[in-house]
Amino acid sequence: MEKTGEFPGTSLSDADIKEGKVLLTEWHPNLKYAWDAGVAVGRFLEELKQGRIIGTKCDRCGRVVVPPRVFCEWCFKTSDGWVYLKDTGVINTYSISYIAWDASRVEEPTIPIVVNIDGASPGMGFLHLLGEVEPDPAKIRIGMPVQAVWKPAEERVGAITDIKYFRPI
Ligand SMILES: [Zn+2]
Repeated sequence: MEKTGEFPGTSLSDADIKEGKVLLTEWHPNLKYAWDAGVAVGRFLEELKQGRIIGTKCDRCGRVVVPPRVFCEWCFKTSDGWVYLKDTGVINTYSISYIAWDASRVEEPTIPIVVNIDGASPGMGFLHLLGEVEPDPAKIRIGMPVQAVWKPAEERVGAITDIKYFRPI
């Protein structure tokens, strides 16, 4: 494990924990709870399970936003309805990432992107991954058109990961 001079310590990887290389204690609290995604994101996730991307519109400012919201924060009013969007878009921004969630270095980089979804207002989209392209800045560009690659219907659970990644088109 690597230590930094200024903040000495030992970083832990997922494997260190799973393989029991550190002292662990287990505790199973008897807690029962439900988490509500809310009206807008709840519908968004349910539509993802069906292989669709949905947003909401505001008739006052004319914006179509995604992920959907129950209110327009520009106009301080309730949204005016649902709008089905395409599963295509363009890359708003991207990064080539060589670190995993636990800050460990990975050999095969991922390419996180913010994708602006077609049919939504400019700049409206969400964070996802780019796939089927080499992690080379010469092969990726802002404004590059992309399309969602969906998991098979039987594997979708109503999560943003129902889209495996976006690929260039
Ligand atoms: Zn509005």
